[in-house]
Amino acid sequence: MIPGLMQDVPLLTTAILTHAETAHGRVEIVSRTVEGRLHRYDYAGLAARTRQLARALQGLGVKSGDRIASLAWNTHRHMELFYAVPGLGAVLNTVNPRLFDDQIVYVLEHAESTVLFYDRTFAPLVERLADRFTTVKTFVLMSDADSHDAGAVGALNYETLIGPESDAAFAWPRFDENAGAFLCYTSGTTGDPKGVLYSHRAVVLHGMAAGLASAFGLTAFDVVMPCSSLYHATAWGLPFICPINGCKLVLPAEKMDPASLQELIVGEGVTFSGGVPTIWTMYLDWLAQTGQDVGALKRVIIGGSAVPRAMAETFKVKHGVQVLQIWGMTETCPLGVVATPTPSIAALGEDQVDEVIWTRQGRLQFGIELKIMLEDGSEAPRDGETSGALMVRGPWTIRRYFRKEDDALLDGGGWFDTGDIATLDEHGFMRITDRAKDVIKTGGEWISSIDLENIAVACPGVKIAAVVGIPHPKWEERPLLVIETHEGRTVTRDEVLDYLRPRIVKWWMPDDVVFAAVPLTATGKIDKKTLRAAWNGHLS
Ligand code: ADP
Repeated sequence: MIPGLMQDVPLLTTAILTHAETAHGRVEIVSRTVEGRLHRYDYAGLAARTRQLARALQGLGVKSGDRIASLAWNTHRHMELFYAVPGLGAVLNTVNPRLFDDQIVYVLEHAESTVLFYDRTFAPLVERLADRFTTVKTFVLMSDADSHDAGAVGALNYETLIGPESDAAFAWPRFDENAGAFLCYTSGTTGDPKGVLYSHRAVVLHGMAAGLASAFGLTAFDVVMPCSSLYHATAWGLPFICPINGCKLVLPAEKMDPASLQELIVGEGVTFSGGVPTIWTMYLDWLAQTGQDVGALKRVIIGGSAVPRAMAETFKVKHGVQVLQIWGMTETCPLGVVATPTPSIAALGEDQVDEVIWTRQGRLQFGIELKIMLEDGSEAPRDGETSGALMVRGPWTIRRYFRKEDDALLDGGGWFDTGDIATLDEHGFMRITDRAKDVIKTGGEWISSIDLENIAVACPGVKIAAVVGIPHPKWEERPLLVIETHEGRTVTRDEVLDYLRPRIVKWWMPDDVVFAAVPLTATGKIDKKTLRAAWNGHLS
């Protein structure tokens, strides 16, 4: 080979910030603060305060490779950490505050974070656990200066810390694009949380790809409100995708209740939002109750768990909003696929487009290869029918977990096993049928718990439907349907079974329907491990 003769510019996250400042400097960023006010500035303002923060971090002795932790909501201050920390070559460890205490301690200790930035909401948590954070030397409370409370940990104040620093031009260091930038831990529903260390290269390539028309299709006319958490796999990369494309950014802090979201959606002209299904269930209910409309909202990306078909349909039919289902995981930075139409699907008519978009997790995107592997190791045909282990490969897919040097995570071909069971069709659409550990194995056949849940959740009065496989004396496992109803609604077992009967094959019928609160994991998914343990003996 002969070397190419183009410029050797590393793909670093600071390039995104610099681009946003120069190309879209006056585009607004609106953030709710934890104090409850609305903070407004623009990409130039973000860049300026990020330079101040970078200087303050250097003053604290932060060096390349250090891990800096955050326990924070979707706010402008968290965004500043998103750029300042990796910009210096250090790593931002975004901690999920919904983990259990022991898991939070595990994450901070495992990451060996030396500075912890936290929102006021988490002050009690930090004070409770501070003695167990053996590597943290400095605590910084991300609050307004006049409402600062150093607490028992003697926290510095974010504003007081960065205030005296200059926002003049800063010589962002130039380093290898493969350097670590963000350290995100999986929620650890099985075993300890596992650290996924995103490189600058992965974050930048992912950010470029996710904005494409085949994916989120964002332009400078969009006003984007991420309702997935910045601490969970970088909120699907929106903190990078928006500045790349010049979108106005609206950050809701922790206020994900419908009325608070509506205030921003209507008040700020939000055109595009995204979050896990739970948030939208509450929002759609609230719209139905109040009779309000969705303002300029046009598209919503939903993922993290399967999108109930009824949700996508209500969004379209009642509110003219297009739902794009996405699938991804912490290990894929996190975007894998997005459900956007193709000419081959469009040719089959609008109903077919809706059907595909609403019931498939998404289609193949450049930068992440997918294949379905069968139990004998062979590749499944792309027929939309044959399900198997979903394997992924690409520049923003994990190679190895943080500090798990001995793990042989990938197969010989460099593929990562996602733990999901899926099908792939001739149009390149992927459909998740289950997580490998949640699939219900009954009499040698498999039942998709996701499919059953999707049907059951459309039964009137049902708010959340969870299906788990429970040990059964004859059939190995049989499905149990656990239902949480909408507040103030009563639904009977027979009503649910009558609703299911014409819609599913007979052997899929749950052996029982029970009514109980459905537990959720730290990332808002149905906690099937807890459900299985709670109902384990129910059918024996
Ligand atoms: P956790 O820490 O909860 O595992 P992740 O975000 O990494 O958090 O979870 C990724 C998993 O979530 C995927 O492997 C898949 O099982 C599930 N998931 C994500 N998006 C979807 C979707 N659209 N439909 C069904 N399952 C999904």
